[in-house]
Amino acid sequence: MEKEVMKAFKKCIIEREGLRGVEFELDELLHQCFSVETYDKTFHHYNFTVRMKKAGSDKWASSTLYFAQVKEMYGQKFYFCYPLDPNEDGLCYACQNQGMNALQHPAVPIGYVTGRPDAGCPFVDDDSDDGGVADNDVFVRAFEQVFCKGRCL
Ligand SMILES: [Zn+2]
Repeated sequence: MEKEVMKAFKKCIIEREGLRGVEFELDELLHQCFSVETYDKTFHHYNFTVRMKKAGSDKWASSTLYFAQVKEMYGQKFYFCYPLDPNEDGLCYACQNQGMNALQHPAVPIGYVTGRPDAGCPFVDDDSDDGGVADNDVFVRAFEQVFCKGRCL
């Protein structure tokens, strides 16, 4: 999981902002929540903090809170990462439906999936899907989730 959040951070913050020579490391992975919309569309939400160090400096800046989404569609992964204000807390039905109320989201719901108010069953993430792009495990569990939803309605 830690690899995924740092991949999102690197792609969406470091590369997009063109930050060069900056060192960064995961400080703390605070929350995570795995959701399934359909069998071929799953997404993970994360809260985590990152520490950064400017080029030539030997002092780490204080850590910053980020939200990240890793979405997997048809076996392809899409990354989204956004810095959060400490009190920023956008609404996400996907996390709310799973009781993950502590997970903070960007106030403006653009760029990430917020789920639907009526969707979803409690879902236990066993944290084992940190594999390659075509991760069968994710698809198997996604099918299970769709099946579970049918029974719960
Ligand atoms: Zn969420």
